[in-house]
Amino acid sequence: MVKLPIYLDNNATTRMDERVFEAMRPYFIEHYGNAASRNHPFGWKAEEAVDWARETIAKAIGADPKEIVFTSGATESDNLAIKGIAEMYAAKGDHIITLTTEHKAVLDTCKALERKGNRVTYLAVNKEGFVDLDMLREAITDKTILVTMMHANNEVGVIQDIEAIGKLCHEKGVIFHTDATQSVGKIPFDVQKMNVDLASISAHKIYGPKGVGALYVRKKSPRVKLAAQMDGGGHERGMRSGTLNVPGIVGLGKAIEICMADMESDTKRIQDMRDKMWMDFQAELDELYINGPDPLDKPEWRLPGNLNVSFAFVEGEALMMGIKDIAVSSGSACTSASLEPSYVLKALGVGEDLAHTSIRFGIGRFNTQEECDYTVAQVVEAVKHLREMSPLYEMAKAGIDLKSIEWAAH
Ligand SMILES: *Cc1c(COP(=O)(O)O)cnc(C)c1O
Repeated sequence: MVKLPIYLDNNATTRMDERVFEAMRPYFIEHYGNAASRNHPFGWKAEEAVDWARETIAKAIGADPKEIVFTSGATESDNLAIKGIAEMYAAKGDHIITLTTEHKAVLDTCKALERKGNRVTYLAVNKEGFVDLDMLREAITDKTILVTMMHANNEVGVIQDIEAIGKLCHEKGVIFHTDATQSVGKIPFDVQKMNVDLASISAHKIYGPKGVGALYVRKKSPRVKLAAQMDGGGHERGMRSGTLNVPGIVGLGKAIEICMADMESDTKRIQDMRDKMWMDFQAELDELYINGPDPLDKPEWRLPGNLNVSFAFVEGEALMMGIKDIAVSSGSACTSASLEPSYVLKALGVGEDLAHTSIRFGIGRFNTQEECDYTVAQVVEAVKHLREMSPLYEMAKAGIDLKSIEWAAH
């Protein structure tokens, strides 16, 4: 029997790898120095560990160690990148371009800047979630100072062609930031090859600790400058003051080191489980809709462990109740208390009804085939059961076009 409950929400956060925990441990209780203390071995030990992590992370993304700024996570990295650029380049322009499907850490930062007078263009995506490069080209003006577009989407797994986006930005002389939280460590990511000027990273999405992340800031061609958003002791070359979270930083370094060493095998195993899950659902159920690119058609454009499916004619919440032992995310309750369906699904043109029936499965390093098979069986049973009670499903099966029905007045 599989051990319950099953964790299948790895796009929200991940279990920490024990190797990461062991690497961090000494920096809590033995080498607890302040990395900025230059006068004694406690400080030196801490600084050495931070240097190691900085080099490891830089190497993993094709950067120079001096281009890594440690933060408290991707939310802070996104804020620092976007607000830092808006402030630093205010004399050059006031315009920012982003996507409607970005993480809230980017969208709400842009909204905050709009309240301060910046102009923001929120580009639409197509039904698979891709941005159109021609639309981006047309949106760039001589007042555009920043394009911020995520690499891989946390809800529907779509991977943008950031290499092409970065190339276009560089041709136009615009700084390019990407939220790479979901991609770094899982799929190839290289700041040189992909023409990236700023990139946000978080440890807890890649089997590291919560509360630590990094921002890559390009130092040459072009040299990117940021206005600090946190003032204080001038840590991180003045870009982010505050005593460094040494154990957390070691954890981020170790998490990335493991991801890089195991990327090929991890990716294949996780992708195979995801693909099988999608095939099994399709073999057992009808009226299914994939949100984001179809994993079987475009595997290279979808995050390996991400599967987001709308099970028409069931309520996502009711379905979640029916699979209580499996931790997943639903498209209707994504932003906690609200009953609004996911804005990402909406941006992909998914109707409100279908959005409410959607479930995100996030498969990760610690999931097994047995867990995935158990999940499929439970979901299939729950969907069949709910549909048995659904008059709409019966009518649809009887060939009645539901859109043609005139419903009684509300
Ligand atoms: C999780 C996530 C964030 C926020 O990261 P934190 O480290 O939790 O602040 C930002 N962007 C994306 C795409 C994410 O998946």
